[in-house]
Amino acid sequence: MKKARCVLLTGAGVSAESGLQTFRDAGGLWEGYRPEEVATPEAFARDPEMVLRFYNERRRRVLEAQPNAAHRAIRELEKRYAVRVITQNVDDLHERAGSKDVLHLHGEILYARSSLDPRWRRNVGAEGIRLGDCCPRGGQLRPDVVWFGEPVPAMETAFREAAGAELFMVVGTSLHVYPAAQLVHAIPPHCRNWLVNPDPAAEVPEGFEHLCERASVAVPQLVERLLRE
Ligand code: NAD
Repeated sequence: MKKARCVLLTGAGVSAESGLQTFRDAGGLWEGYRPEEVATPEAFARDPEMVLRFYNERRRRVLEAQPNAAHRAIRELEKRYAVRVITQNVDDLHERAGSKDVLHLHGEILYARSSLDPRWRRNVGAEGIRLGDCCPRGGQLRPDVVWFGEPVPAMETAFREAAGAELFMVVGTSLHVYPAAQLVHAIPPHCRNWLVNPDPAAEVPEGFEHLCERASVAVPQLVERLLRE
């Protein structure tokens, strides 16, 4: 029997309980900047060393973090559903939990890419990126992440996936970051939808059931229910 298609859109909140803070929860400033100000092409042009330092630090934290119960439950869904994870996260916790099909809308922090040739990329691991690290053509390496103000090339694929969904879960995202937030408008009318967010004031798209709980609690419960159906 053909498996039903279950699509997830995940954000920083799914990794919060693994110790990786969401930008908004981070609260304060980083070396006097808001993270949104560091994650831009303008910041990299102005002060590349500072931007590289910011990402080297975040990369180290990602490597120390472990997947939590929400990441693991999402992997379990594959027993019964054709699962596609669309994530805004730059960490690799879905992959380390065992999810097979993960689309990173905003790139992957463990990779560097060339400023000259975006197709040239390599895993930099804990070593990080230093000013002067270049691709063979001499282009300075930068984190392989999508910065604020840059295009999101994976969106076309993500829209196609959302349009084919029979079940759709939004986990740990405020739905304030565009264009990712537009995905909820691409879901077909017959699709069953859930939003997992512990914030009672979270924006709930029309047709979504709001599970007002932390991801590590709500996702395993929902998955258990769906595996029994
Ligand atoms: P966001 O739009 O991703 O918002 C985070 C949401 O998670 C909030 O609505 C919050 O209520 C919710 N949340 C907090 N704890 C939760 C939990 N335990 N379970 C479920 N939901 C929870 O906003 P942002 O954090 O400002 O991110 C902006 C951009 O930066 C996004 O692309 C985001 O994915 C990225 N980012 C990625 C990481 C990562 O890769 N781990 C970390 C920080 C930010």
